Amino acid sequence: MTHSDDGVFADAIQRLDRAFEYADIDEEALLRLKHPKAMLEVSIPVRRDDGSLSIYRGYRVRHDDTRGPTKGGIRYHPSVDLSEVKALAFWMTCKCAVVGIPYGGGKGGIIVNPKELSRLELERLSRGFIRNICDFIGPETDVPAPDMYTNAMIMGWMMDEYSKIRRQRTPAVITGKPIPLGGSLGRDDATGRGAYYCIKEMEERHHWDPRQKRVAVQGFGNAGQHVARLLHADGYHIVAVSDSRGGIYKQDGFDIPSLMYAKNESRQLKAVYCEGSVCEAVEADSITNEELLELDVDLLIPAALENQITEENAKRIKAPIVVEVANGPTTNEADEILNAAGKTVIPDILANAGGVTVSYFEWLQNKAGDYWEVDRVHTRLQSIMSREFRAIHDRMEEHSLDMRTAAYAHALSRIGEAIAAQGTSRYFSRDSG
Ligand code: NAD
Repeated sequence: MTHSDDGVFADAIQRLDRAFEYADIDEEALLRLKHPKAMLEVSIPVRRDDGSLSIYRGYRVRHDDTRGPTKGGIRYHPSVDLSEVKALAFWMTCKCAVVGIPYGGGKGGIIVNPKELSRLELERLSRGFIRNICDFIGPETDVPAPDMYTNAMIMGWMMDEYSKIRRQRTPAVITGKPIPLGGSLGRDDATGRGAYYCIKEMEERHHWDPRQKRVAVQGFGNAGQHVARLLHADGYHIVAVSDSRGGIYKQDGFDIPSLMYAKNESRQLKAVYCEGSVCEAVEADSITNEELLELDVDLLIPAALENQITEENAKRIKAPIVVEVANGPTTNEADEILNAAGKTVIPDILANAGGVTVSYFEWLQNKAGDYWEVDRVHTRLQSIMSREFRAIHDRMEEHSLDMRTAAYAHALSRIGEAIAAQGTSRYFSRDSG
């Protein structure tokens, strides 16, 4: 089967072919990963507050479950499509293998602009989606979580709906829940914190002085805010941040806690989303999202959407280090340009794996009914992120690879071992021959 008509998923799986050379696995594993295990498309009727009816389309994809239940977020966005959800599910398979947690990859999404819905409409949509996918998910089969424009409150509604359908409280069906409903301490900043631990590894290796380092963050949402906050606390200068409405720049860096306060706390809330934009938050120079990417900074952190660094703008990226907190922010063509220019890209499947790692801790706590202190969450997260960062960095140096290919090879080795443990043609043909 070719994937030429399969958009972002086709691009995503191309990266496997390159990494295959550097992972000692059977070709069958590669073949398996090119075909998602199961895909569900649903229509969700939602009664609007004015009495009218709207129908929304949603997807859930389980990409591969060889290493464990599939795991991955649910995204609410007008540009969601099946190919994107498949790509995101594929990245989750690789990400869970990168950090060595016993999960495969899944993902879901609804085509909707959630900012146009009231709180009650959003709750009806979220519960309606779960009613439609409840036989597809479960604590031992497929475990959703938040992604773009979904959050802890939405996860709480979803867990509640699933529990009502099953007639038993089932917190382990979904992660990223509010703490009083079985969420884990430390889940809120886990994605940003995981990226921060990767940056600290770089800092140690290259003896950086944080006070000499300038950082730009595209996307000041959950993931972007926390990595900015942690870096700022260590002395890094966060000179630019942005959101969907544009960006701001300040030569000597922003005070990130006050910027977070301005964006999140002091603004009117509509539905369950923040209405405020960083552009209105503080006195600063305005820049566009495109300009932000091309700033002369030491670290560039895309933390918003896919396909932000492309063939068109890659040549103008000045930052020597790109930390992919968003999923898929760099296209394959752009990757080649960045590599040729000697840039280091800490790839998404490593840099943003902190979120799913703490989701795994949450699932463990739900199953055990025993809840951890936040220090335990941080210590275990740091130990996993540092261990896997070093393993990937060593593989990169050993084979003179870019870091993305090394991370994929690292993931493929783990997935390939699991697939081979069930037998491949190498094993079965010996039997019949
Ligand atoms: P979020 O909804 O909390 O924040 C997204 C931010 O991006 C918002 O500030 C939004 O205004 C901004 N944004 C939207 N469109 C933009 C554009 N065109 N240019 C600049 N900014 C834009 O979402 P999040 O959870 O922080 O997710 C951000 C990225 O991180 C996504 O790619 C997501 O898949 C990835 N990610 C998140 C997690 C997690 O645990 N939250 C885990 C792994 C990966």
